[in-house]
Amino acid sequence: MTFAPPPHSPSQPGRRNFFSSAAKLTAAGSLIGLGAAGTTTAAAPANCAKASGALARPTVRHYALSRVRLEDRFEFDGGKVMSTQTALYTLEIRDGKIARILPQGAQLPGALPHYDAQGLLLLPALRDMHTHLDKTFYGEPWQAPRRGKTIVEMIAIEEKLIPRLLPKSQERAEKLIELMHSKGTTVARSHCNIDPVSGLKSLEHLQLALARHRDSLACEIVAFPQHGLLRSGIEPLMREAVKMGVQYIGGLDPTNVDTHMEKSLDTTFGLALDTGAGIDFHLHEAAPTGLAAVNYIIGQVEANPKLRGKVTLSHAFVLASLDDGQLAELAGRMTAQKISLASTLPLGKGVMPLPQLAERGVFVMTGTDSITDHWLPFGNCDMLEKANLYAQLYRKLDEFQLSRSLAIATGNVLPLNDQGQRAWPLPGDSASGVLVAASCSAEAVARLPARAAVLHDGRVVYGGFDKEATGKNKAAG
Ligand SMILES: [Zn+2]
Repeated sequence: MTFAPPPHSPSQPGRRNFFSSAAKLTAAGSLIGLGAAGTTTAAAPANCAKASGALARPTVRHYALSRVRLEDRFEFDGGKVMSTQTALYTLEIRDGKIARILPQGAQLPGALPHYDAQGLLLLPALRDMHTHLDKTFYGEPWQAPRRGKTIVEMIAIEEKLIPRLLPKSQERAEKLIELMHSKGTTVARSHCNIDPVSGLKSLEHLQLALARHRDSLACEIVAFPQHGLLRSGIEPLMREAVKMGVQYIGGLDPTNVDTHMEKSLDTTFGLALDTGAGIDFHLHEAAPTGLAAVNYIIGQVEANPKLRGKVTLSHAFVLASLDDGQLAELAGRMTAQKISLASTLPLGKGVMPLPQLAERGVFVMTGTDSITDHWLPFGNCDMLEKANLYAQLYRKLDEFQLSRSLAIATGNVLPLNDQGQRAWPLPGDSASGVLVAASCSAEAVARLPARAAVLHDGRVVYGGFDKEATGKNKAAG
């Protein structure tokens, strides 16, 4: 959970539309863009405004999805990308994978259930790589945060709040997951409090929520000592959390909260090395302690090759205060150790040097840091909006740069590579992605169309299909 200037995220928490699970599969259905009637995309290539009538989703693991718009190449003018060329394809989806990508109109086995994407653009799955599904007010009546002045004051507030939130934390997490799906997110990393107030209960509730969405959300968990690892004496609980299945050891401001940087970080790294877990460390501290912590963390990974590729710095606001030389040096070391960075894209004086880090090879991710909670009132779980914010914040304004901005929200998965060749989807890829009424990913980043349908491993987890069947595999158009 961040303790810094919040990212700009208009608060429009909506509710997912629920569909009848009993809706009947038809021989051919057409995708409906629920909520897409309000899309800002002028060049919507499909009629996706219909939002009435019964809806269906595939109930089988082998089907065809026709008239899917995929990006084919860039159009160049004098070496500069001027536009993105797309075409319509039929995807044969089998056992959660894209088995074949066929030209629109190709002959398919007649018995194969067949759905119609109506020309909507398929984007890669969206990823919220820093959230706190265990702590949110979402689903409750509106309340603004009561902020403390320091992180220690915030912890004191939380110690009283957590017992009140805990009884319904599973229910709220599930509502948040449904909101995430409505925005296209099907991959996430959630921190989860491990603290003396809730013990392992927050984790138990989160795992129950995730178990009920195991077919729609791929979610890693970070055991997060929000009240301090040393300060709250929870090292044994952290070990229990790993036994319960968390993939990452979390951490928090080793000087400001634990008051002993080296001992705190040594304990964190000891836990990771003992258990085989990775590390995802919240670091809000400014220089000099924040910089010392970054250096110490990188040094620990350099000294323990088993952790290479398994460590993430979350926030790391101190990186925004470094000069070019310091940043280049740290970025080089982070890249060598495959240390990733998760950032919420903060505004204001703490604007992070994310493009500079990415250009030097640091894997940069973004996340919501949860929404509507006792830390921040903002957020709607829209990771495409994070890509849009990235483009605005770093002036990525042309076709090429807008299209590249999508990477922050997709784990660097982009439809076209920098040379304009199709990089995604390819046969064998997971049948996961987001269908939107946009002509290309640059337009989607700029104009934020509503999500019409969301696929995760071949399953439709948001949106649905028109029950009115045409029964034909429509030709390209
Ligand atoms: Zn956080």
